Amino acid sequence: MSKVDKYTERGIAFLEGDGVAKDYEQAFYWLSVAYELGSSKAETILCDMRAKSLGAPFDGDVPETASLDDGPDACGVTTGTQTVAVSNVRADESRPANPNRCIACGEEALVPSEAFAGAKHCSPSRGGCGTNVMIPIVEDGLARGVALQPYREPIPGRRENMYSSLGSLIHMVKYDTRVDDPLKAEMVREIVRRIGECGVIEQLVDKRVIRNLVVVPAPSSKRRKLQPVSLLAELVSEGRFGYEEALKKRSRTESKSRPKGTELAPNDVSCSESVRGKTVLLLDDTYGEGATLRACIRALKDKGAQEIYFLSLCKNIYGGVKGSSADDDDID
Ligand SMILES: [Zn+2]
Repeated sequence: MSKVDKYTERGIAFLEGDGVAKDYEQAFYWLSVAYELGSSKAETILCDMRAKSLGAPFDGDVPETASLDDGPDACGVTTGTQTVAVSNVRADESRPANPNRCIACGEEALVPSEAFAGAKHCSPSRGGCGTNVMIPIVEDGLARGVALQPYREPIPGRRENMYSSLGSLIHMVKYDTRVDDPLKAEMVREIVRRIGECGVIEQLVDKRVIRNLVVVPAPSSKRRKLQPVSLLAELVSEGRFGYEEALKKRSRTESKSRPKGTELAPNDVSCSESVRGKTVLLLDDTYGEGATLRACIRALKDKGAQEIYFLSLCKNIYGGVKGSSADDDDID
């Protein structure tokens, strides 16, 4: 084994906790060494680690073109500032949950959004990243709904829309074949950590019913060994709420044959009896046209769910990112 491969393997061992204690900073260090020596494998892993801010040192490097008033640029997935932003959150984990906190950078998000009615963003002039957060989702039969971030958002000075910080995590977990299941699970844990930190569930759900809340993952039509939304819902509920995998969706082929824009049929989503009389927090990764959500609401109501809240990590309103996988469009 060459020196470069050895360093790469050492980095991966620290990343996965394989034979050594898991240590992202060590992983980042050894992979950086391997990358400097020309390993493209190390480069790929480093990109993934950077995007989710694993082990990346706080180096304070702001892209030369970005000023503090450049707005959402700081949340661009590939810019150095995102690492900075997330590092800020990590540096101060003792802060209490704050519903006005930007889920991307941790600063207060109090400026009304121009892109999304009812949403807000943190203020770049006060050190925030400017990404839009807490986008209201209004659907019939829903007590309240919110998406934490846009899936992608336009970045000034760039032609393509960029993934938001949560959007890039979701994209990697769902579509990046280079990311293995243990790393995907780590990414989901990172998302759960951010959900806890911004206190969105407490903000969303009425205090009177929150103690009886049952978290239900939106059903997936794609078979995966690791079901990200189920894992997400399970971890979000852990030690705090109930958890029910109550919803099932018909197969992907069947739902794909549905003409675009048409609603799912009532039996496209089935629901178990376990939700009767309960307050449900329906959890999904992305909200697009809302067809899946409406079918879920119908199924939950049919089985007697009392009140339904909805939390989506992202709202997808912009078109695809150029060069991204076509698969990326199975969002509805
Ligand atoms: Zn921010």
